[in-house]
Parts: sequence; structure tokens; C-alpha cells
Amino acid sequence: MRKFVIMGVQGSGKGTQAKLLAESYDLVHVSVGDIFRWNVQHHTKLGAQVRRVVASGQLVDDELVETVVRDRLALHDWNYGFIVDGFPRNTRQTEFFLETYDIDGVINLELPESEVERRVLGRRLCSGCGLDYNLIGHRPAVDDVCDVCQGTLVMRPDDTPEALAVRLHDYHEKTAPVIELFQRKEFVARIDATRSIETIQSEIRIRFSLP
Ligand SMILES: [Zn+2]
Repeated sequence: MRKFVIMGVQGSGKGTQAKLLAESYDLVHVSVGDIFRWNVQHHTKLGAQVRRVVASGQLVDDELVETVVRDRLALHDWNYGFIVDGFPRNTRQTEFFLETYDIDGVINLELPESEVERRVLGRRLCSGCGLDYNLIGHRPAVDDVCDVCQGTLVMRPDDTPEALAVRLHDYHEKTAPVIELFQRKEFVARIDATRSIETIQSEIRIRFSLP
């Protein structure tokens, strides 16, 4: 059984890397973001709670995130292991996590701030169908027009340099103590996330001696 935690700033490709590992090794991908999105789309009680928090301009608090991850892992359907993405968020949660699960290690995808900026500020969203574009990797055939529905491509309202700087600051402030704690107890693989998806994936596998 394999148990991992994956960390990385926005734009680091964390979700993509986690999905690739989950597919290859039959791991359950426990993505806090995906669980929240699913609940919002399916109008569950949790979804309504998340929607309220987001509508009030706040971040979902650590306790709610913890409940979601605990409940997900309590299903014990992860026969071959799991990869957790978006948790833990603070040192108390990290301690609890380390005591409860014997994890194999932490994947920390590192990306310089300038590159995060380039990637995140290059993101566009179709106002018609919601398809994601990226002016670096996935450009539309015609500028600012969706290939699928011809809708107008827009930036997400919170993808401004100022908002991003705040999010990055928060991210580093919150995760630095978590990573420090992990480093004392577990193997943390620092991975340079500026490279291609394939290169990053193969380095993760080498670092954790995955076949
Ligand atoms: Zn569209």
C-alpha cells in the first residue's frame, strides 16, 4: 500500500501529477478541491456550506477541510493506498495525520513565483461553456474565442496580480510550518515543477522508487 501527500502552489500542476499517480498505482485521489466542487455541483448540504463561505468572500476553514478528508479516508476503500491533495493545512492537522496514517512521503512541487504568475495570469475561462484555456499551453484557435462554443474567454475575477500575490503569501505562510514538520518525520521530495508533466511524473516515481 502506498500513501502520499502532494503539495504545491496554484499552477504547479499538483492535480495533474496526483491523477497520473492515482491512475498508475490504483490510489484513491483525495482532492479537497474536487470534493468541494462535486458537492457544490450536486447541491449537497456540504456544498451549500461551501457555497456560503465562498459567497461571503472567505476561505473554507481548516476544520471543514479536515472533516471532509477524515470522512473520505474513513471509507477505507483505498486498498492500494491514497494520495491526498489539499490537506493538511496546519501543524495540528499534520500531527494528527502523521499519527493516524503511516505515509510513504510528501511530494512538494516547487515553482518560482514569477512562473506561478505567468501560468496563473495566462489562464482563461470560457464565459459560455466554462472550458479552461491557458495562453501558454492551451491557446484557442482565435484569440479570446472558445473553440467549442464560440463564447468569449475571460479571466477569472480572482486571477489578478494583486489577488495572486495575496494567495501566494497565504500559501507560503500556511504551508511552511507543515512542510517543516513533515521534513522532521517523513521523506519530503522537493520536485522542480517548471518542467514538463512527463518529466515531473518520472522524477516523482524515481524519488519514491515506484516501478
Ligand atoms: Zn466555450
